Amino acid sequence: MKLVIFGAPGVGKGTQAKILSEKLKIVHISTGDILRQAIKQDSETGRNIKNIIDKGQLVPDEIMIEIVKEAITSENCSNGYILDGFPRTVNQAVMLDRLFISTGQSMPIIIDIAADDEVLISRLTSRRTCNSCKNIISLSDIIENNVCPVCKAVNTLEKRKDDDEEVIRKRLKVFHETTAPVMEYYSKKGNIIKVNGIQPIEKVNADILAELH
Ligand code: AMP
Repeated sequence: MKLVIFGAPGVGKGTQAKILSEKLKIVHISTGDILRQAIKQDSETGRNIKNIIDKGQLVPDEIMIEIVKEAITSENCSNGYILDGFPRTVNQAVMLDRLFISTGQSMPIIIDIAADDEVLISRLTSRRTCNSCKNIISLSDIIENNVCPVCKAVNTLEKRKDDDEEVIRKRLKVFHETTAPVMEYYSKKGNIIKVNGIQPIEKVNADILAELH
């Protein structure tokens, strides 16, 4: 099965993609995670990418399509995958379609998760990621200071630099101006599942799975 998970920053794409990849036994491809890994290598490209991400801007389409091409054509994706964070521009969606045609792959199912901006801002400012188990945690779920409520690791909870309110507002602006039109593009092609993202994680997931089955 091939899925694309779509929605604004903070809507729960990463969380849902992680659960779906485990339940459906397909590979989770997060372009944000791939870029954050590239930054750790401390190359010139890594530094340029860091600069773009820290400002809440988008990495150029040409770099992104190469990353995605490598990921989706790799051996471990033969059982399927869930693309999280791509496409983010209409141009990326067009390039992805071309890639499907050239590699003989069928069109994926698009999952569109929606939520209001104010809910997203509040979620993102209180979002932390556990370095150890990789789960996304909300500050309200932390019971013991500096302890991950999922895997109990100590001092592993990190706030992403681009989760500061000013950068979040910029990312939401980029989403509405540049990324939202991707859904208009896909709406002409069909195969879209629309889900309400202002619900508990389990309910969002159940809604997605009900539509997929
Ligand atoms: P995410 O983890 O999906 O929120 O992505 C974090 C940041 O990585 C974004 O704000 C962008 O700067 C960059 N990024 C991730 N995916 C893409 C993409 N498909 N196109 C351009 N930039 C991206």
